[in-house]
Amino acid sequence: MRDLKCPRDQSLLKEGQEHGVEIDRCEKCGGAWYDNDELSMLEATVADDDSRRGMIDYAKRESELKCPVCKTDMRAFNYRAHNLELDACTEEHGFWMDSNESERVREVMQERVAGLQRAGVAEEEWGNMLRSGGKKSGGFFKNLFGGGKK
Ligand SMILES: [Zn+2]
Ligand SMILES: [Zn+2]
Repeated sequence: MRDLKCPRDQSLLKEGQEHGVEIDRCEKCGGAWYDNDELSMLEATVADDDSRRGMIDYAKRESELKCPVCKTDMRAFNYRAHNLELDACTEEHGFWMDSNESERVREVMQERVAGLQRAGVAEEEWGNMLRSGGKKSGGFFKNLFGGGKK
């Protein structure tokens, strides 16, 4: 068993679960440590593989927190360009989330899924309008800017 300490208050983290994902939680501040693959597991509780594509870490900058695993300075970033700051180990050990941030991650992913569904519908309507029908790939912007002709 690992003895991980909270990067904020140095309390010993306890193994637990959030949304069915195994994490290490700080009982003092309510934050949680997600191993590298556990963030994508958290995302997978609300979104499928397709919706999870794309960059996660925007606007990377120095963090005041240190990785509980290797103790190097972590990197703060804006999760998927939202106003949600997470901290990640530069050695890819994992992510630190403060008390309500894992809930926010799920909200962001839910919004993303809804947004992608809307985009899918818009694309379909656009396709019908052009009577080009049945386009599965290519996408809205490609059609719009003339890349859709085959
Ligand atoms: Zn703590
Ligand atoms: Zn680390």
